[in-house]
Amino acid sequence: MTQLDCTVVNCTYNKDKSCRRHDIMVNGRDARTSSETCCGSFAPKGDGCGCGIDSTAAVHKDTHVGCEAAECIYNDSRKCSAKHIGIAGGHADRAQETECGSFVCQ
Ligand code: SF4
Repeated sequence: MTQLDCTVVNCTYNKDKSCRRHDIMVNGRDARTSSETCCGSFAPKGDGCGCGIDSTAAVHKDTHVGCEAAECIYNDSRKCSAKHIGIAGGHADRAQETECGSFVCQ
């Protein structure tokens, strides 16, 4: 499990700069920089996520992070092995405007 912080306040899962999901998926199969990654679990506020998570649900600092960014040093068989990561994208309105700020290219 990975400690997760997230600045994507426009995401329906975000609460107090943390994520209310138990798991996320970081996309960016051919990424070589942070900006080529994104949080594939992003869902814009107001669109409804169909996830059943309500606004009072607790945040999950310990999160299962799946990851397609095979070039990242923390990628271990499509799972993130970092102890702590940050997802960035303070003004993101879509997944492509988010990024894994902890990506480190091999
Ligand atoms: S952008 Fe990803 S990590 Fe951030 S709150 Fe949304 S689903 Fe969670």
